[in-house]
Amino acid sequence: EAKQAGRHQVCYYNHRLQEQAHKRAELEEGIRLALEQQAFRLVYQPQFDQQGQLLGVEALIRWQRGEELVSPAEFIPIAESSGLIVPLGYWILTQACQQLASWAQQPATAALRIAVNISARQLQDAQFVDQVRHILLASSAPAQQLELELTESLLLQDLPVSRSKMQQLRELGIRISLDDFGTGFSSLHQLVHLPLDQLKIDQSFVAPLGQDTKAAAVVQTILDLGDNLSLEVIAEGVETEVQYQTLLKMGCEQFQGYYLARPMSLEALEPLLQTLKIQDTDH
Ligand code: C2E
Ligand code: MG
Ligand code: MG
Ligand code: MG
Repeated sequence: EAKQAGRHQVCYYNHRLQEQAHKRAELEEGIRLALEQQAFRLVYQPQFDQQGQLLGVEALIRWQRGEELVSPAEFIPIAESSGLIVPLGYWILTQACQQLASWAQQPATAALRIAVNISARQLQDAQFVDQVRHILLASSAPAQQLELELTESLLLQDLPVSRSKMQQLRELGIRISLDDFGTGFSSLHQLVHLPLDQLKIDQSFVAPLGQDTKAAAVVQTILDLGDNLSLEVIAEGVETEVQYQTLLKMGCEQFQGYYLARPMSLEALEPLLQTLKIQDTDH
């Protein structure tokens, strides 16, 4: 009986693994096709300053696969493990830089910046810095308004190499933001020696604000750290008035989250850009 049950379990387990492998292979093939057929698009989530002025946007990838909108949380890891994130990542950077260049030509939008997420696998590509330089030149986007979002775990995989690449990127004028800050348990000593421009407070610390004094203490610590290191700090995942007000009171200067604006298409962003134009002609 027991043996029988065990055998069933093994069968079930193998079956599950097979299903997972199949799903991965199927998604991988889907990504390959989507790249060829240009089925990916970028949405842009606004970032604001303390006065509610639009500072820029974070570019986030979307994959509309027939009826289904596949979440980046589902396909980015597969794009990473298959290496497809490398060509996909260059496509993303190219799109973002073209957008940045187009905004740079209009007075009202000329100061806006675009943040782009970069995976470990992308930074590890030997051509990465050269490719970024090439994309910037080809698009004539202002490097100072391009921001690359890296994560702690990514950087710590090979710290000396990461640091050197970050340095080279900053020499091009590019800004570097540390995404999901506080979730990587990295050594602060190592982190503070990295060439950075911005810390991005992870949404897991923002969510409990107003309810959890320990979360508030972490946020305050990150804000103070930013102050002391002359780094900008932005809070992500701001979903409620309470979170927003708490952050404002604590001295946070930059904000991103559903409470302020969702990730949106360029067309949906247009009304916000129109308000920039009005403010500009007022001066
Ligand atoms: P991330 O870079 O930390 O991006 C923030 C995620 O939080 C986005 O999810 C965004 O839509 C979502 N978000 C924004 N405001 C709120 C809020 O107020 N509440 C909540 N609960 N969520 C909010 P998304 O677009 O699904 O992306 C998930 C992750 O996938 C990103 O996390 C990033 O790690 C990765 N990703 C997305 N786009 C790209 C890309 O173009 N390239 C790479 N390499 N990774 C990407
Ligand atoms: Mg990000
Ligand atoms: Mg994040
Ligand atoms: Mg995240």
